[in-house]
Amino acid sequence: MRSLSDVETVGVVGAGTMGNGIAQVAAAAGYDVVMRDIERSFVDDGLDSIDDSLSRLADEDALSESPETIRGRLTGTTDLGDLADADLVVEAAVEDVDVKREIFADLDEITDDDVVLATNTSTLSITTIAAATERPELVVGVHFMNPVPIMDGVEVVVGEHTADEVTALAHEFAADLDKETWESDDKPGFVTNRVLMPWINEGIRAFDEGVATRDDLDRGMKLGTNVPMGPLELADHIGLDICLDASQTLHEELGDRYKPAYLLKRKVDAGKLGKKTGEGFYEYE
Ligand code: NAD
Repeated sequence: MRSLSDVETVGVVGAGTMGNGIAQVAAAAGYDVVMRDIERSFVDDGLDSIDDSLSRLADEDALSESPETIRGRLTGTTDLGDLADADLVVEAAVEDVDVKREIFADLDEITDDDVVLATNTSTLSITTIAAATERPELVVGVHFMNPVPIMDGVEVVVGEHTADEVTALAHEFAADLDKETWESDDKPGFVTNRVLMPWINEGIRAFDEGVATRDDLDRGMKLGTNVPMGPLELADHIGLDICLDASQTLHEELGDRYKPAYLLKRKVDAGKLGKKTGEGFYEYE
């Protein structure tokens, strides 16, 4: 297995919210990054988001190098084959087990045998994803939080076959990106979503049942429990489709206490996915 000092190039699969964030923080930490998505427009959107984020951070004096230097380490591609020289890969494609298993089977073919393959999945089993490869001991969860450049934490998720040195490398890599870590066993939802999703769904149900107005519900949870966002605001921020997928996975695995709220499903069916579509529980410019 390659140690962190052998890692020069990081491959990132997916250029969406999380993929472009991970690519950005890896490039800011000095790694060359190749970021892949399935369509050129998705790659370009991801690179544009990185440009916006880097220039905001530069305005706040929060970068140690110029945005141009960091951006110079990043390449976008639609060809997974361009990750052939990656020394470490982080997958952040859609939360669909079949898509992820296919990506991991392809990465297993494309990358060198000693390369660690990490997934940013929020809820899916690391062990199930790893089983699509011939190197399950080199597969690990690195669950970054949204927005990646701002959030300080990464949840390291240990699959059934994940080798101890691979878990250690995941912690070291996150630390090198200036993130703090905690560890979770490979159980549905890991630590964060197992506890967070019922909170969000109960917030949505309480709003739907008229317990409080949207604003009072979020304000109450912020002021009453000292969290930075209430459940409705946070759901919009994460993306209601992502919340629904996560809730459905947890519901299947852990039973009725994880049943998604009816209003969450209705909003997703209506295409009101939160901040990213301009409307969820709130409206955005
Ligand atoms: P997103 O919808 O913003 O981006 C996903 C991207 O994956 C899209 O651009 C899509 O085109 C791309 N994609 C689909 N199939 C692909 C393939 N075969 N190869 C390469 N790219 C492919 O989703 P996101 O919010 O960035 O979530 C990505 C992952 O991160 C998911 O597993 C999600 O559960 C996890 N996650 C999300 C959050 C969050 O708050 N959004 C937080 C932590 C983890």
